[in-house]
Amino acid sequence: MRLDLSGLASFRGTLTTPYDPGYEGARVLFNTRVRTRPALLARCADADDVAAAIRYAREHGLPLAVRGGGHHASGLSLVEQGVVVDVGGMRSIDFDPAARTVTVGPGAGWRDVDRVTYVEHTFTGPDGLEYGLAGPGGECPTVSNAGYSLGGGYGPLGRTYGLGCDHLLEVSMVDADGRLLRASETEHPDLFWALRGAGGAGFGVVTSLTYRLNPLPKTVVGGIAAWPLDRALDVFRAYRDLYQDREDDRLALCLLLTTEPYPEGEPVVAVYGMYVGPPKEAEEALAPIRALGEPMFTSFGEVSYFDLMQGMGEEIVYGLQSKWLGGYFAPDGFDEPSFAKLVDHFRRSPSGYSMVRFDLLAGGAIARVPADATAFAHRAHLHYVSIIAQWRGDEETDLNVSWVDDFAEDLRPHLTGEVYQNYADRDLTGWETAYYGANYPRLQQVKAAYDPQDVFHTQQSIRLP
Ligand SMILES: Cc1cc2nc3c(=O)[nH]c(=O)nc-3n(C[C@H](O)[C@H](O)[C@H](O)COP(=O)(O)OP(=O)(O)OC[C@H]3O[C@@H](n4cnc5c(N)ncnc54)[C@H](O)[C@@H]3O)c2cc1C
Repeated sequence: MRLDLSGLASFRGTLTTPYDPGYEGARVLFNTRVRTRPALLARCADADDVAAAIRYAREHGLPLAVRGGGHHASGLSLVEQGVVVDVGGMRSIDFDPAARTVTVGPGAGWRDVDRVTYVEHTFTGPDGLEYGLAGPGGECPTVSNAGYSLGGGYGPLGRTYGLGCDHLLEVSMVDADGRLLRASETEHPDLFWALRGAGGAGFGVVTSLTYRLNPLPKTVVGGIAAWPLDRALDVFRAYRDLYQDREDDRLALCLLLTTEPYPEGEPVVAVYGMYVGPPKEAEEALAPIRALGEPMFTSFGEVSYFDLMQGMGEEIVYGLQSKWLGGYFAPDGFDEPSFAKLVDHFRRSPSGYSMVRFDLLAGGAIARVPADATAFAHRAHLHYVSIIAQWRGDEETDLNVSWVDDFAEDLRPHLTGEVYQNYADRDLTGWETAYYGANYPRLQQVKAAYDPQDVFHTQQSIRLP
């Protein structure tokens, strides 16, 4: 049935329905396995458009979803036969070099921000080196800064400077009544608390975010090094030991099981990331990795942080179907038996596009924030494992889904049961505790205060108390 869009006559952005030629392209998410078909994609130009789209959905009794960059792992940024409030096109960047802050539209990607604040802005640090100001982003250029930070936000600067959400100074949000609210430590502090970790979980639509920025040398040491999979345990041991009781929070390395060349090459174990500081300090920090001997491939060297992140982003393949499962390792779970199990499962991956990624988390600045200071609860764990099954055709789906399901089931004894809300699994039972831990009841109170009619309801939005 065609919608009557006359109530949206003053909408400045683009309205797309299934009857419009651009609908399929506009609808598709990063994970093409998601086939949800909304009745209306309201691609907003500003906060007034956001308010109009929310009002329209309510007046017509249609369900709502909120979308930024379209990277939700299991597709909850679309809603069947509902209205998608899409803020992906709101990408303004307002940089204040003196205050070292930036105010951005929710759809801007981290490279868009870094280009302005890190590449185009230069100052001389106390050590005489040239610096820029970097945002707290990850490597994917098309993930929206809002989606990333509202759910936490893990990037290479995290251990040194904190999560994406820890960098937020102020957030503007349109609520269910179409009102524009400003949340900070002093205005709506309860909402500000909730938005930092559960901001995508049903409070409203965020329309602008102000972040503090991090000084970072224009040249850092970073890259990727890969070894054949039969060296996996050696690399694992070196990597694990590197982070055992480590005081220095500047070495940001992640472990990865992937294929080289990707996706049709041999399975490999890789270490990638950077040293968050001057290049001359990096070699000492990287020595245990260098001691592993000649990798089959390495790009580690002096590089601009921007080029490093851009290069990693260019490796991401679009147009794939995926299923993403994982969890935080229990304190003694990141050990040789669990890693051997991981490698064994990875060898049997039916698709060369699939990977196992280990984010490096706590310690450093992430753990210095108390678990109840923001809605983001998972601050104590050092390592997160993501099993990311990726494939092309529908005929490969069953095989790949079985692979990732069996893999995750086998790994379960080594994990805490907590799951990172930004790597969401729509089939997860007990997601309330898995995502938000002891912060969930307080989130329910905030939900009742800001969305008492549960307008922003999804399969995994905060429930009313
Ligand atoms: C290839 C890839 C790489 C990734 N890398 C990282 C990484 O390095 N570190 C990391 O922490 N995460 C990473 N993620 C996860 C990513 O941060 C989350 O999936 C995030 O939610 C994506 O936001 P989005 O706006 O792009 O996606 P969308 O699908 O558009 O949105 C996801 C959800 O975020 C919420 N949301 C988005 N925008 C708003 C808004 N303006 N107001 C209110 N709610 C909003 C909504 O609930 C929505 O359902 C990665 C994901 C992918 C697919």
